[in-house]
Amino acid sequence: DKLKKSLAKTKESINEKFNTVLKTFKKIDDDLFDELEEVLITSDLGVNTSMDIIEKLRQAAKEKKLRDSYELKSELNKIMSDILTEGSGSKIELQGTPAVIMVIGVNGVGKTTSIGKIANMYRNQGKSVLIAAADTFRAAAIEQLEVWSERAGVDIIKQQEGSDPAAVIYDAVNAAKSRNIDILLCDTAGRLHNKKNLMEELKKIYKILNRELPNSSKEVLLVLDATTGQNAVQQAIQFKEAADITGIILTKLDGTAKGGIVLAIKNDYDIPVKFIGVGEKIDDIEPFDPVEFVNAIID
Ligand code: GDP
Repeated sequence: DKLKKSLAKTKESINEKFNTVLKTFKKIDDDLFDELEEVLITSDLGVNTSMDIIEKLRQAAKEKKLRDSYELKSELNKIMSDILTEGSGSKIELQGTPAVIMVIGVNGVGKTTSIGKIANMYRNQGKSVLIAAADTFRAAAIEQLEVWSERAGVDIIKQQEGSDPAAVIYDAVNAAKSRNIDILLCDTAGRLHNKKNLMEELKKIYKILNRELPNSSKEVLLVLDATTGQNAVQQAIQFKEAADITGIILTKLDGTAKGGIVLAIKNDYDIPVKFIGVGEKIDDIEPFDPVEFVNAIID
């Protein structure tokens, strides 16, 4: 299927390298664990997460008396699944009418495309969706979002370039309430070069949302480009300081070998991935399923 295909390169990076190491090993010893740790580090899991995983594997090997590469790999699969399912989960909260999904992220990561795909996905599920164009910094961004809202067949609330994002949100909330909308998708700012401004902007938006929609869930999803690997991890850290991120939309997983950052972001910062982008077309998005993901990169 599409997920497996998209993760083929990540699998090649992790699974094939594991197989190479496991094929030649003689006994389960420190050298073997060092080599396996190296595989994880070179597969973009980050040093810290790679060390955590191998430490857990080392303990499990001792306690459960694992003997062969088959048992080691199935234990590794379990350790990775546990990391992705413990703590904050990947489930998308959709409470209230409308439920709110805010989307943030820097230019070029795939923010506009993802909003269009998500709008389309929920619309196909029979839900009503409204998009708020509250990233008002660039006129081109608003126009692009309009193109995607048309593709998805959902309405968009916008004002002109440079207008107050909070005012756009206020308009959109009122429109959503009066139209009985299920999901309000808000495109919000992506400028990280001024963290203080971003924080202020989001705070204002939060205030309106909490006042006007006290009973609605509010997802704050950060869009990250998987092809940038450890840079994406750095962006997650920086955005986390400025906003209460509830999850990640990881784009461009198709064709990259760096899918392992999913584990680094979850293990080190407890931010779950909630959606994955697997192509440029409107259908190329999936809610993130941790177990499917791990099964697709290790067999
Ligand atoms: P924005 O500036 O963050 O709003 O980014 P856009 O939504 O305009 O996307 C930037 C580029 O990334 C476009 O060429 C998209 O087609 C591409 N893109 C977005 N998501 C994906 C994805 O999941 N896979 C691939 N292959 N390309 C994507």
